[in-house]
This record gives sequence, structure tokens and C-alpha cells, in this order.
Amino acid sequence: MRIDKLLANMGYGTRKKVKGLLKGGNVRVNGEPEKSPKSHVNPNEDMVTVMGEEVDYREYIYLMLNKPGDLVSATKDANDTTVIDILQIEDQVFEPFPIGRLDKDTEGLLLITNDGQLAHRLTTPKKDIGKTYYAVIAGEVTKSDVEKFAEGVTLDDGYVTKPANLHIIHSAAQSEIELTITEGKFHQVKRMFEAVDKQVTYLKRIQIGNLKLDPELELGEYRELTEEELDYLL
Ligand code: URA
Repeated sequence: MRIDKLLANMGYGTRKKVKGLLKGGNVRVNGEPEKSPKSHVNPNEDMVTVMGEEVDYREYIYLMLNKPGDLVSATKDANDTTVIDILQIEDQVFEPFPIGRLDKDTEGLLLITNDGQLAHRLTTPKKDIGKTYYAVIAGEVTKSDVEKFAEGVTLDDGYVTKPANLHIIHSAAQSEIELTITEGKFHQVKRMFEAVDKQVTYLKRIQIGNLKLDPELELGEYRELTEEELDYLL
């Protein structure tokens, strides 16, 4: 990879600024001064320093966001603020994107990365990765709904859902549930409840595979995944 790109990626400024750093003799590769922005380095093998400080290069970022109900799960949007707009990282550098989508009014666990392979692994229907939601439902959720969800319900377009695990936390006029599904059809949770004549009034994703939303994260807050959390997903 070109050294100017690597340094720009790591937040040392624009390519122009980085060129200045190089020309000014501030950059060394394996201890040797490097002045050419066009020179190539191997980020995994070469030691690059800027003004004596080692550049801790990494290609990928992995963030968990507690998505609030007023952001859209996209990188850009003409009308709404996106989950990428709020990031305080070098987003032009890493070019992060959300893995999958949550509806605008859905809160909770959203992963953001620039690792296309991980995104593919987590979203491909073949892998059957569970996604767990907490929801408030208008209407009394019954054992019969649990059985129907376990068998699969027919959505408004005729699609029959895969077996899903519905757990009733509290059943009343306003019920609270947790639902784990292994697929991600458009508005799936809301449509599954519509299939049993009930309405989701609040929806929050709390888990993807073994990865749980950090309860310390307030709505709109995010943090990097730990190595251990990343291992759950890789
Ligand atoms: N199911 C929904 O209906 N909405 C979401 O945002 C996620 C799952």
C-alpha cells in the first residue's frame, strides 16, 4: 500500500498534508527516512514511524452502536441523519457502513464496520445467525403465538418465516417479549406480529449471535468491539 494512503488512513491528515510530512523528513520506514509519498509499505510487516512515534496501522474498524430511534441505517441520506453521520471517527478514511438495517424507529444493537467479509457473513441467510429483539406489543401475547412463531407465520406477502423463538416476558394489554429470528426480511418483527393480529409499539435489537448490546451504552453512543466480542462474530 502507498505510504501516503496509509498515513492518511491513520488520520495524519489529507494526502497533501501527509506529503508535507514525508518531504519534511518526519517519516521513517524500518528506521530509514522515507520521503516519497509514492513508496510502498507492507502495513503488516514494515514499521512506520512519524516523528518517532510508531503508526499502529489497522485496516478494519468494528463498532457497536446503540442506535436511537431517529437515525437511518445507511451511509448517506438526503433527508435524515444516518448512523454514519454521528460517528466521531475518521469516517472518510475507513468508509464504515452499517451491517444490515434497523428501521428508523428501531433502537439498539447495530454493528458498523468497513469489513465487507464480516458484513456478508452476518447477513447471508445461509448462516442462520440469531438476532434477538426486545419488543413492546399492543395486545396480549399468548402461548399460541409462541407456537405459531416456532412453526413459522405467513407474512403479508405470503412468505412463511423460519422457526423463531418467542419468549413472553410479560403478557397484558401491553405485552413485553423477546424474539429471536435467524433471517432479516424487511420489517420482519413488525410483520410477524401483524400476522398474529398484534402491533409492535417499541422495538430494540439486543443481541446478534452471541454478541450482546453493551448495557452501558446510552442511545446514540458507540464503542469499538473488544477482541473477545469480535471472536464471537468471526
Ligand atoms: N424487524 C423489524 O420489523 N424492524 C427492524 O428494524 C428489525 C427487525
